[in-house]
Amino acid sequence: MTIQPAPLLIVGSIAFDDLDMPSGEHRDVLGGAATYSSLAASLLGVGARVIGIVGDDFPKGHLDELRKRGVDTEGVLRAPGRTFRWHGRYSPDLASRTTLDTQLNVFADFSPRIPAAYEESPFVLLGNIHPKLQVSVLEQTRRPKLVAADTMGFWIQGEPAALAEMLRRIDLLVINDEEARELSGIHNLVKAARDIRKRGPRLLIIKRGEFGALLFDDAGPFLVPAYPLEEVLDPTGAGDSFAGGLMGYIASRREASPAVIRKAMYFAAALGSFCVEGVGPSRLLAIGRSDVAARIASFAKLVDHGGDLSLAG
Ligand code: AMP
Repeated sequence: MTIQPAPLLIVGSIAFDDLDMPSGEHRDVLGGAATYSSLAASLLGVGARVIGIVGDDFPKGHLDELRKRGVDTEGVLRAPGRTFRWHGRYSPDLASRTTLDTQLNVFADFSPRIPAAYEESPFVLLGNIHPKLQVSVLEQTRRPKLVAADTMGFWIQGEPAALAEMLRRIDLLVINDEEARELSGIHNLVKAARDIRKRGPRLLIIKRGEFGALLFDDAGPFLVPAYPLEEVLDPTGAGDSFAGGLMGYIASRREASPAVIRKAMYFAAALGSFCVEGVGPSRLLAIGRSDVAARIASFAKLVDHGGDLSLAG
């Protein structure tokens, strides 16, 4: 018998991205945290309920693409004005990026109202967006089982008080190493994790790009490597795909035990690895569940050491 996934609610940006890659420039690419994470969850058979806003410049076809994959877009508002825009430039090795411009546009005056049917959503992903909007969505839900959140430097620097309030209300924070250092002011990641967990989230995942991701919880640190890829085209959205894969797997299992979260880290890393293989969300839009299953199988092989690591003699 297959288990029906539990509802997963996602709030986050839906965007047009301008991407300056070493290989060339891409303009008006579909992006945003909610876009990447809902696509990642859909590849695990979870049709996430998305809360967000787009402007009247946003092609209907983009939302149709999401809906075709089972994403529930009833909570996506269309408002007069321009869609959120982000412009980033990557370093020649793609290891770092600079934000050249962030335009909130319709997100600036957005006050999310979640459809009544979404109030009972046991799993909630507060994707990257203003921490006040993250809290507002959370306040409209009823006792979710697990609330995860993402954020970025833009909010850590710009909205520290709202961010602190958001941190007090969540179970799991998913950020990258640079953000963890920025948020805590501590370079050592183990110490930074201890500091951040004291601010609210009992669980913390620190993503480290090609070096994998670390989970910190009461059961002790846990590491998942990044899937080794021969070609990386565009890292944009990898973090959001990771978070969507993570929460998608947890929703598909309907529980967030330490064991399930550890397995979910593999699905998260697998979805992140697909994301970087194409510009924007193109690769996530091109693959299916069998591709995910195949990558998970090679992932299992990647970390299979035979089972016995006791010291000989
Ligand atoms: P990631 O590469 O996973 O960190 O996410 C990249 C996505 O985040 C892009 O598609 C952007 O549209 C979106 N983004 C960039 N800056 C912000 C911001 N300040 N708030 C919300 N979303 C953002």
